[in-house]
Amino acid sequence: MRRREPATSRNWRRWKLRATLRLEIMLPDLKLVIRLQEIDNRLADLNREISALPVHISEIEKKLIAHERKLEADRAALAANQKERKKCDADIQTQDQKISKLKDQTLQAKTNDQYRAFQNEIEFCQAEVRKSEDRILELMSESEPLDRNVRAAEAALKAEKAEVEAEKQVARERTAEDQKAKADLLKERGEIVAGITPPVYQRYTRIAKMRRGIGVAEAVDGRCSVCNMALRLQFSQDLKKGEQVLSCESCGRILYYNPPQAVVDDAAGA
Ligand SMILES: [Zn+2]
Repeated sequence: MRRREPATSRNWRRWKLRATLRLEIMLPDLKLVIRLQEIDNRLADLNREISALPVHISEIEKKLIAHERKLEADRAALAANQKERKKCDADIQTQDQKISKLKDQTLQAKTNDQYRAFQNEIEFCQAEVRKSEDRILELMSESEPLDRNVRAAEAALKAEKAEVEAEKQVARERTAEDQKAKADLLKERGEIVAGITPPVYQRYTRIAKMRRGIGVAEAVDGRCSVCNMALRLQFSQDLKKGEQVLSCESCGRILYYNPPQAVVDDAAGA
């Protein structure tokens, strides 16, 4: 439970905080250039995301197409299997008809030679029937896993298609949001650029281009926080005065000094 303090004390605290608010004592140019850096960082992130989304979509679509092809191949194999099975059934029927006709002829055989000839033919046809039957068994055992694969792939593909559609929708929405955020940032950027003293803006642009997009650095504990070079004492003092825009003597980035935030300790009841 926090103690309620008298209104006068709260006002005093608010004033104190405002007086030591970070960036408050900064040069206007410096404040603008810091915001510019924030905007440029955010813009770079947005651009990265905007260009990464179509790549992601095309990757998941490619995977989907590969799965569709595999399913088509399995379906084709299953269809070929069923076609051959039908052919075997038809062959058996043909041979059976031949056999029954040959049996009739056998009954009418005039000589032993004729009889044996018919018998040989019947045996040949029976052997053909057995061959077809064996092949049918083979085809059946092959069709079982194929059939299972096709059914499983059909179900999986249906789910995958829905997933890809959902991801595409998310990507479309995200891209639209990103574009909107980008437009807003670009508008603010334009306003900031119009407000900065041109040489400071040019300095920022030149260094940012040279230094992977980072043209501004905070001075922390007497060092440039980006290149980590220790600042000369006099330079540090000039920077703290905040009377001019200074650049790191090592990396060239525009430096700013951020006074430590006043920590108001509630427990102390100041
Ligand atoms: Zn530096």
